[in-house]
Amino acid sequence: MSNSKLIFDAVHDYNASIDPKPKQIEAFEYFLAGKDVIVNLPVGYGKSLIYHVLPKLVQRATPDLEKPVVLTISPLNIIQTEQIDILKRHNISACSLPYLDNEESLDSDLNQFNHSIVNGDFAVVFSHPEALLNTSKGQELLTSCSFIHRVAALVIDECHIVETWGEEFRTAFKKLKTLPAVFENKPILALSGTLTVGQLKKLPEILGMKNPAIVQESPDRQNIFLQKIEKVKGQDICEIYEEVFKKECDNLKQSPMSYPVTLLFMPLFYISQAAAYLQHIFGKADITNSYYAVLYSRQDKAVIQATVTDLQSDNPRIRLVLTSSVAGMGFDPPCVTRVIHAKPPRTLSQYLQEIGRAGRRGQKATATLYYNNRDIAKNIPGIEDDILQYCKTDDKCLREILLGNFGFSKTQISNEECCSYCATKELDIAGLFDDTL
Ligand SMILES: [Zn+2]
Repeated sequence: MSNSKLIFDAVHDYNASIDPKPKQIEAFEYFLAGKDVIVNLPVGYGKSLIYHVLPKLVQRATPDLEKPVVLTISPLNIIQTEQIDILKRHNISACSLPYLDNEESLDSDLNQFNHSIVNGDFAVVFSHPEALLNTSKGQELLTSCSFIHRVAALVIDECHIVETWGEEFRTAFKKLKTLPAVFENKPILALSGTLTVGQLKKLPEILGMKNPAIVQESPDRQNIFLQKIEKVKGQDICEIYEEVFKKECDNLKQSPMSYPVTLLFMPLFYISQAAAYLQHIFGKADITNSYYAVLYSRQDKAVIQATVTDLQSDNPRIRLVLTSSVAGMGFDPPCVTRVIHAKPPRTLSQYLQEIGRAGRRGQKATATLYYNNRDIAKNIPGIEDDILQYCKTDDKCLREILLGNFGFSKTQISNEECCSYCATKELDIAGLFDDTL
């Protein structure tokens, strides 16, 4: 049987109403050839579908392998939960390896759970690097011959954060490079939506991949207008943030249902100030009747769930979402038409991820980045040169700068739809023309 038929059949097994896209097919082809592969596809292309389909593909390609497992390393609970729900809706059994700080609390239920994982009762097993590499239960899996035998692929999701987080607060990410030795000859699929040219170069060594194939496509989202605004100078830092969020909150209050669905990224401290201001102008509201929501990693689960559910609808009641950077991954509402950053994130990868939440249906959208000199000081921990250049460069198209970092250049797009630099240039030209009349 040709690989092409195998791939189409596996995708149809997963979801009868979709066909694989060209870059997904390319990734499957490499996987079937036993090659490690880095998949760098824009947010919205459907990179997760690749590992969702793998259990079906493995079943078809190697029917002798009984109860194969796709082991997926994923950095955040919110992503794991969302992905497990999607897989379950497609009748694929999935679970996540629990991570407990206090291993003494392990009980027989957990032993039984690990036993089920080893037995191959779950086709996709999610794990944080910590749960797999730093706990006795994780070690049990990594030394179990039957589990190792069952693992048909090792997936590293959101692989762009492995380097950054591994260096900083989650050092278990650094140990991921030991996994290829455990799962010898099993293909590794590293997935991301936003690998820069530099990250692509470094990734194989960081993950211990062998001469990986690369599947990628330009991350350009032509329906998103890029805008950059320098914040007013000489103000107190609180006032600067206030200026950004107050304008938005006041506009929301004025006409909630005509306010575009907006994600406003801000540091947590200022989110709480903005939330207090919203409460002041709207009065007491809760998530069942409010026009706004606050999302951050420690937010009450019920609030997160209610927000996510409302934002899935065609015309959501919640119009303004105040959030820190976490929502940039895994949270995917289709109706967002504006993304505002009150401050630049630390990398251009992160920026691209976060603005990718806008215009998911292909509708026109805007990404606005507020910045000032304080935000782009060189000594901010973890800040990358690429985002500094994006903020500092005033004589170049923003889309060109953004795409250039990912090894692509822009294709045909009109100046007024491109970015604040090109749109201004267009206005200047028009002004010049008027003067000559
Ligand atoms: Zn431009």
